[in-house]
Amino acid sequence: MRSLKLYERFTKTFREHPSISRFLIIFAVSGGGLVAYSEANIQNGAKIDELPEAGNQKKRVVVLGTGWAGTSFLKNLKNPSYDVQVISPRNYFAFTPLLPSVTVGTVEARSIVEPIRNIVKKKKVNVNFWEAECLRIDAKNKQVYCRSTQDVKEEFVVDYDYLVVAMGARVNTFNTPGVEENCLYLKEVEDAQKIRRRVIDCFEKASLPDMSDDERKRMLQFVVVGGGPTGVEFAAELHDFVSEDLVKLYPAVKDLVKISLLEATDHILNMFDKRITTFAEEKFHRDGIDLKTGAMVVKVSDKEISTKEIKTGEISTIPYGMAVWSTGIATRPVVMDFMKQIGQANRRVLATDEWLRVEGTNSIYALGDCATINQRRVMEDISSIFKKADKDNSGTLTVKEFQETLDDICVRYPQVQLYLKNKKMSSLVDLMKESKGDVARESIELNVEELKSALSQVDSQMKNLPATAQVAAQQGTYLADCFNRMEECEKQPEGPLRFRESGRHRFRPFRYKHLGQFAPLGGEQTAAQLPGDWVSIGHSTQWLWYSVYASKQVSWRTRSLVVSDWMRRFIFGRDSSQI
Ligand code: FAD
Ligand code: MG
Repeated sequence: MRSLKLYERFTKTFREHPSISRFLIIFAVSGGGLVAYSEANIQNGAKIDELPEAGNQKKRVVVLGTGWAGTSFLKNLKNPSYDVQVISPRNYFAFTPLLPSVTVGTVEARSIVEPIRNIVKKKKVNVNFWEAECLRIDAKNKQVYCRSTQDVKEEFVVDYDYLVVAMGARVNTFNTPGVEENCLYLKEVEDAQKIRRRVIDCFEKASLPDMSDDERKRMLQFVVVGGGPTGVEFAAELHDFVSEDLVKLYPAVKDLVKISLLEATDHILNMFDKRITTFAEEKFHRDGIDLKTGAMVVKVSDKEISTKEIKTGEISTIPYGMAVWSTGIATRPVVMDFMKQIGQANRRVLATDEWLRVEGTNSIYALGDCATINQRRVMEDISSIFKKADKDNSGTLTVKEFQETLDDICVRYPQVQLYLKNKKMSSLVDLMKESKGDVARESIELNVEELKSALSQVDSQMKNLPATAQVAAQQGTYLADCFNRMEECEKQPEGPLRFRESGRHRFRPFRYKHLGQFAPLGGEQTAAQLPGDWVSIGHSTQWLWYSVYASKQVSWRTRSLVVSDWMRRFIFGRDSSQI
């Protein structure tokens, strides 16, 4: 193990032998590669010999991951009093919602990625990037063990004061035999590039002479496993690619193409409104996409997929040329290992509190797909809530007493507000009234047992947040805002009352704001489920999709690349070159 000190030694050499650095500068003038090297150091703003030890002067924040959560945190961190070290095996941010478009060349891979160094270069905060993966978190000693992802697999240790875990998740194969060896995934940019090459590969192979009809047919059978938004969007993109571009280029084999979508439950797009599910299923039926629901994949060999009918238990096989596995996510091994260390071994996902602090630790935060918020139940704290609200210690709560604590209760336990909204009640007083029956408002008083029964159904409203870019990005922004105002809020806490202890929480808890969700269905048609369960489907929604996704790009560079890719596709179609 070599620590960051290795780099300090490196720069010490430069300090002790200034002629070396002069030599480098002269060399840089005549060599492009070295110009790039010297620029990289300036852009980082973190000369290695200036890196402070963790715990000294500036507090060191180590961020693991450059996905939606990590990047959103970095973009919004403005307080220059931190020394930020970013560790991620990829040196760029990828706009994942456009990955399905990359699989068929509707959008190019480079159009949806932005180097992380570009994103942080203009920041006043000292941000340094290391292209490496975190192998282990040592919460006791406040250290992360890393390994470079370069050819030389150098290992090093980084100390932290605060750790932000934003490592995302891995693909979930549910331990289905043969998936890892034979299926392609759609999770990373490289996966999308692999799929793009494989599709063309299948068409070229199927067009070769001396191939049996059965083999040709198999080569052109594309199977997508998983009827969630990603699987559905990919199937739709593939169908568009085949019907708009490839049929003209491969006329001899065009009739042999078949796209199948396998889903274990009864419907695709389960998390969407029923109207969207029905529209999508009918559209796929019209498009000739073979939709097989209620079928679970039990085994994948190099040429066949075996499925089991859930209702009948019947096993059938589908020959395939390319299979894409998109059935959800699971926890990364390094996070599992960390969970064991901190007493969360019996959980499936890393749990944090509502302030995104990892439960069982005091300076580690986790956000995005790698974590889930463990919302505290009202019932766990009901006696403390009662005590805090009962200011005159009378043993009963009056309307006035309740109202004075109401805001804090609603901020601390958002399920209360949700419950009232669903019950169409304007405030907790309505709830008190409901539990007390027909009494005048002023004379309502509840004892602790009555309060318990009034709030007994509230916790049923709690829901886990979905693993989406929207959640991850909002969490990154929220956490950066907390870090930006850490000292200020230490002095003047702005959070709700601490019901079990004294005082207030430093910050308001994280609150997710759902802005809606899209499901592109191909043929320039998209379905959208917007807040308030407002559903919109069709060509006009596709234009909404274009404008939202263009506006959500991380930089003007990627925005212009994505828009020009869309225009290129409209004019010339998609490129089917095998590169
Ligand atoms: P990620 O974005 O996955 O980032 C994780 C980061 O951690 C990466 O930089 C990774 O390199 C890094 N990392 C991994 N291992 C390590 C390690 N050992 N050490 C350090 N760093 C590590 N969501 C939506 O809201 N809308 C959509 O339309 C949508 N479409 C999607 C389409 C596809 C094809 C996919 C795959 C996902 C889509 N999602 C969408 C979901 C969304 O991408 C994820 O919810 C989001 O990426 C989660 O963000 P994250 O930062 O937690 O993880
Ligand atoms: Mg009282």
